[in-house]
Amino acid sequence: MNIVIFSGAGLSTESGIPTFRDSGGLWEQHRIEDVASPEGWKRNPQLVLDFYAKRFEKQAECLPNPAHFAIAELAKHHSVINITQNIDTLLERAGCEEVWHLHGRIDQQKCEYHHSLAFEYDGDLECTYRSQITAPIKLGDECPKCGGQLRPDIVWFGEPVDMREEFLMKTIKQAEIFVGVGTSALVYPAAGLLPMFRMTPEKYFIDPHPNYELLNGFTILEGPAGERLPKLVNRLLLQ
Ligand code: NAD
Repeated sequence: MNIVIFSGAGLSTESGIPTFRDSGGLWEQHRIEDVASPEGWKRNPQLVLDFYAKRFEKQAECLPNPAHFAIAELAKHHSVINITQNIDTLLERAGCEEVWHLHGRIDQQKCEYHHSLAFEYDGDLECTYRSQITAPIKLGDECPKCGGQLRPDIVWFGEPVDMREEFLMKTIKQAEIFVGVGTSALVYPAAGLLPMFRMTPEKYFIDPHPNYELLNGFTILEGPAGERLPKLVNRLLLQ
């Protein structure tokens, strides 16, 4: 079966990584616009680098929870594509291979002139450099391709998401089961993705506070991912 799992911050809360909502719109005591926007980066890059270095360390200490492991188990038996808004790598650490991070990855760095940002820099400075982080990024760390400053490989507010249109269209067409988990799905592109799967025959949504209005047509499993997802996976494995 072709299964799509679409996840948000709620998938990782039971691993100890809080959602934005739970922290009242602040991210570890910082205003989102200070640490997750191109303007914040221009104002105070050191603050941004320190912030993500801490997030990197924190997530390395966290462990995948039963929901991540259930998805990895499902992927052993079926074709599972993960589309996640999470920047942590808990799905990969649970054993998932096919993970599309809409908002980037905490364990990667890219050039500040990366093409996804290039619209800000009059089009002359475009770079595609991206690599695994091996040591905390420092001011002065240069992109080996063009000399730009390295920055976290995170999609910040106001930056475009790499939508991989062709892959997405193929995934939508082939999807037989869709499982949404741990996302309020109010923010784009999440908000736009749900309706795209409206023709998928079986659709589930797991969240302790589901938005019933938004989830018309879904089988809603109200509760935490760590409890609900393993049960759903057991059921799907018997189908
Ligand atoms: P959100 O904060 O808007 O929504 C989180 C959802 O998770 C809510 O609907 C909440 O009810 C649900 N939830 C809480 N605990 C849960 C649990 N135990 N099991 C299942 N669901 C649970 O977050 P969002 O919709 O994902 O979007 C906000 C942005 O925050 C995303 O773009 C994401 O990149 C970013 N973010 C990522 C991480 C991470 O990487 N782990 C953490 C915080 C925020």
